Amino acid sequence: MAFKFSRTSNERKATVHADLQRVLDEALRRSPIDFGITEGHRTTERQQELFAIGRELRDGKWVEVSRRVTNCDGVEKKSKHQSGEAVDLYAFVNGKASFDQAHLALVAGVVLSTAKDMGVDIRWGGTFGSKDLKGWDYPHFELRG
Ligand SMILES: [Zn+2]
Repeated sequence: MAFKFSRTSNERKATVHADLQRVLDEALRRSPIDFGITEGHRTTERQQELFAIGRELRDGKWVEVSRRVTNCDGVEKKSKHQSGEAVDLYAFVNGKASFDQAHLALVAGVVLSTAKDMGVDIRWGGTFGSKDLKGWDYPHFELRG
C-alpha cells in the first residue's frame, strides 16, 4: 500500500524546490515506511533562532553551551532550508512521529534511491562529513550543489 502525505506535510513540501517535491512524492509512494515533513523552507529569522539553541552570545561572540541543532548562522553561513533546497523528515510509526535513527535510515534509503532513479542529487544529513557532527542530522535531506 502506498502512504499519503498529510495536509500539513503537503503544505511544507510546497515550500521547497520542485525537484525535491518530485522526489518526496515518488519516495513516499515507494516507501516501506510512512514518513512526513517537519520543515521545508526556513526564513533567516527562524534560522537565527535555531542557531541560538545551544549557544550563548558572550562579549559579541557565540559560545557553545549545550547541544546545538545547526551550524548555520543564517547570514554568514546559510542553511539550504533558507533557499528551499532542504527538508526535515520524520518517520511515522505506530501512529506517531519517530526520529529514531533506524526508522530515519529506512526513510533515507528510499529517498536516496528514488532520487538517484530520478536523476536528482540529494545528500542526507545522516552522512554529513564533518568529524564532530557525523551522523547528527538524520531528519535532514538537501539538494547537492
Ligand atoms: Zn534540516
